[in-house]
Amino acid sequence: MLAEERGRRPKSPGVRQPPLRRGHEVGATMQAERLCRGELRRNEPMSRHVTWRAGGSVDRAYTPVDLADLRVFMRSLPAREAVCFVGLGSNLLVRDGGFRGTVVFTHRALSQLRYGAGSPDTVYAEAGVPSPKVARFAALHDLAGAEFLAGIPGTVGGALAMNAGCYGGETWNIVSRVRTIDRAGRLHERDRGAYRFGYRAVTLREGRTTGADRGAPSTESSEEWFVGATFTLARGDGSESRQRMKELLTRRVATQPLNHPNAGSVFRNPPGEYAARLIEACGLKGHVIGGAAISPKHANFIVNAGGARAADIEALIDLATAAVRNKFGIALEREVRIVGDADEHGAAHGR
Ligand SMILES: Cc1cc2nc3c(=O)[nH]c(=O)nc-3n(C[C@H](O)[C@H](O)[C@H](O)COP(=O)(O)OP(=O)(O)OC[C@H]3O[C@@H](n4cnc5c(N)ncnc54)[C@H](O)[C@@H]3O)c2cc1C
Repeated sequence: MLAEERGRRPKSPGVRQPPLRRGHEVGATMQAERLCRGELRRNEPMSRHVTWRAGGSVDRAYTPVDLADLRVFMRSLPAREAVCFVGLGSNLLVRDGGFRGTVVFTHRALSQLRYGAGSPDTVYAEAGVPSPKVARFAALHDLAGAEFLAGIPGTVGGALAMNAGCYGGETWNIVSRVRTIDRAGRLHERDRGAYRFGYRAVTLREGRTTGADRGAPSTESSEEWFVGATFTLARGDGSESRQRMKELLTRRVATQPLNHPNAGSVFRNPPGEYAARLIEACGLKGHVIGGAAISPKHANFIVNAGGARAADIEALIDLATAAVRNKFGIALEREVRIVGDADEHGAAHGR
């Protein structure tokens, strides 16, 4: 029995139910849903699941028990249901009006981590494993090259979707193979060569999407999401890797506003420039809208200074974008993902 059936909560007004289906599709879907072993919640506040600690609710949120359970759940989804996979929510904002669709949580669900999967220099991690855990695990086995992941407070799935990186390291530089899932619950094994990747961007060459590469969840049946990755690393020295991780984390504490909820760098750095420098030069450091502020410590961070709405954060993003465009003629590109409706009556959209 699904948790939704165990503890059903009343739906709030203005939140639409998933579309109704007919005939055999309903029967097949209900049968598949009954086989799910995970937890399904309705009207789940996403402020609990994103590091900004702000924003609206999602219609349905599912935490699978494991990969097999996720496969069954994917098969139970209505064909045109919008789907968004979420790791630790460290690069994500759901607008105050909420997300009309289903969120799948991977953290604590897809959590297998294995050494030597295929060859002694590899680590296999499922999508819900926190990236810092992969860095520590690699060091434990004297593998080098994953140290940068220690400073990225998301999951492997989020790191793959974003091509997360820092201090010269990038996720896809150490990935050799990934495993994905589609809407039908089918698994696909793909080599890194199947993807095009660049600075905080990933696309599948053959035209399918990775669930996040357009920044918006999709209702297309061709969509795929990451469920695991094989990292191929160099032989190294575990204690040297641990020392490097320590230095990296010390640098972060010194430069980032980690005492307030945030989502890391809001904008990508334009070629040859730093978004933080441009925003600061516009006089916006410390600028406040509602409960949100452009961090006085690092201008490319927006912090929730207390009770911020997603709209406050988005207003600061728009303000910084316009100010940098007006002053420097540079179009800042957002790194953080925003999904959902602006308010309860807004049209569904994601960017
Ligand atoms: C303090 C702080 C520092 C940060 N520093 C860095 C940094 O140095 N470098 C950097 O690159 N990032 C940084 N970030 C941003 C963030 O941690 C990374 O982008 C991280 O990889 C996101 O992982 P997540 O699991 O939290 O993803 P989420 O925030 O949960 O999701 C981000 C996007 O990925 C998609 N997604 C998540 N899981 C999957 C999946 N399994 N399959 C397909 N799509 C998926 C989501 O739908 C969403 O579009 C920082 C964030 C914070 C809060």
